[in-house]
Amino acid sequence: MNSFSTDVVVVGSGSAGISACFELYQKHVPFVLLEKGNKVGGAGKFGAHGVFAINSTEQKKRHVNYGYREAFNGLTDYNHFFVNGELLARFLKKSGANIDRLAEMGLPVTVEQSEQKAHLNDPLVYHKFNNFKEKMTNWDKLPDKFTAAGNKVMLETAAVDLEYDNGLKAVIAKNKAGAEIRIAAKKVIFADGGYCGSQEMMTANFSDTKALLNLGERKSTGTGIRLTHKLGADCRHRPVLFAHGGAPSMSINPMKRDSAVETLTNLPLLWLDQTANRFVNEDVVYDFAMWGNAAHNVNGIYYVLLDQKTLDTFKQKEVNLEDTFERQFCDVGQTPRTTVGPLPNIQTDFDEAVKTGEVVKADTLEEIAQKLQLPYSSLTRSVNAYNQAVKQKEDDTFLKPAAELLFDVQEGPFYAIIEHCAILGTLDGVNVDRNCQPVKEDGTPLKDLYIVGNNVNGLYSDGYPSYEGIANGFAFVSGWIAAEEAIKSLNQGEK
Ligand SMILES: Cc1cc2nc3c(=O)[nH]c(=O)nc-3n(C[C@H](O)[C@H](O)[C@H](O)COP(=O)(O)OP(=O)(O)OC[C@H]3O[C@@H](n4cnc5c(N)ncnc54)[C@H](O)[C@@H]3O)c2cc1C
Repeated sequence: MNSFSTDVVVVGSGSAGISACFELYQKHVPFVLLEKGNKVGGAGKFGAHGVFAINSTEQKKRHVNYGYREAFNGLTDYNHFFVNGELLARFLKKSGANIDRLAEMGLPVTVEQSEQKAHLNDPLVYHKFNNFKEKMTNWDKLPDKFTAAGNKVMLETAAVDLEYDNGLKAVIAKNKAGAEIRIAAKKVIFADGGYCGSQEMMTANFSDTKALLNLGERKSTGTGIRLTHKLGADCRHRPVLFAHGGAPSMSINPMKRDSAVETLTNLPLLWLDQTANRFVNEDVVYDFAMWGNAAHNVNGIYYVLLDQKTLDTFKQKEVNLEDTFERQFCDVGQTPRTTVGPLPNIQTDFDEAVKTGEVVKADTLEEIAQKLQLPYSSLTRSVNAYNQAVKQKEDDTFLKPAAELLFDVQEGPFYAIIEHCAILGTLDGVNVDRNCQPVKEDGTPLKDLYIVGNNVNGLYSDGYPSYEGIANGFAFVSGWIAAEEAIKSLNQGEK
């Protein structure tokens, strides 16, 4: 077996891992970065648009009146006190300085208004990567910096095991060719991004796993969680899915918006669950996390029901509803469109989607019920109640705003878009202390081990909160905390 030694091994080069490496690099502590993929960067590079922070330099300049007290109390309360208070506090207190640090890393962000219609009036906490392509390029430049300083960056090499005996002896890695490598090390930081790529762990935690459209980092298969758990780390808690919106397909990205089927997915039309009942105020579409949670809550699948008249209206007219992804795709300074249509290709797009099975078409509601295996009586009841709400411009059950009660469902042909709950990953894993060390069931930390980013439990009670940029902000800050703590421990001669 090929073997060598270092001080610290960092597993994963996404937001948390690259941040940990940057700290080690700045403090001249030798490290090896292991990355399973053929390039650096996980969901933090290919996916995330921004990070949450309080008290950043820019926020201070702009006199943002939302600081530690508001954020700490807000998040604690929001999560019904199911939070790791020490960790949350440490994250929040470092989140502002993290913004300056991101600029030093070559990944600058600026404070921007929320990209979600539901959060336009929220305090200014969202710091956005203004040039997404540049972010990706600059991320890719970091390994050269690290290696020039004498560190190792090993691509297509995954951590697979640990040698541990009352302290870390070595990290065992495997490269693409299947060869094992033994890296004798004093500390390891697991930044491998949670477990959404592990079918086994997903199925064990989420009953709707098969229905989910997984847009997360699929190389994240729970390595750090499993290896620390094997050594006694406490993994007892409620699983937390990173649900985020919905999509009409298991294979396409709903954010690309190249089909009118996706456009209609992104609007508050009539939604029915698998029992043919309405289940939510469809206005939730304007809050990605809550939309995803609502879909997760009905077992990951729901239907958008419309009739031919509605489809034709979208084909010919400009409709006074905003596509929920509109603001995500506006560059800074661009004005978002608050209407949709006309959509000249809508009929072709729907006909195509009927062929692929993403949309079900039928002449009658009875036929829709048969094709989707829905109880017909519930379907007619739901449609009648909704039509009544549209007619009266009042939804006295789910309270959808009158301005969104635009389309009744009257005459065939009818169309049902089959929607899947989309996910960006998982948000639970290992219980940690304030230093991002995994703790045992008795609360004591596991020596020499650190675990960060999406691998960590303790920030969310049951789902992703409506605080934009929290997951990614935490990933960068937790990587930084873990590296700082590892360095401190090394300097104290703890090994
Ligand atoms: C499409 C999308 C959009 C998003 N948008 C936002 C947003 O706007 N704001 C926000 O806050 N969050 C957002 N997120 C979530 C955010 O990206 C994650 O919370 C964050 O990246 C988590 O950081 P991480 O370092 O834990 O994992 P990642 O950034 O995913 O990195 C994990 C890395 O570990 C590697 N790895 C896995 N297993 C191993 C192994 N055994 N050995 C070596 N390497 C391994 C992976 O290949 C990957 O490179 C988004 C996610 C997605 C998918």
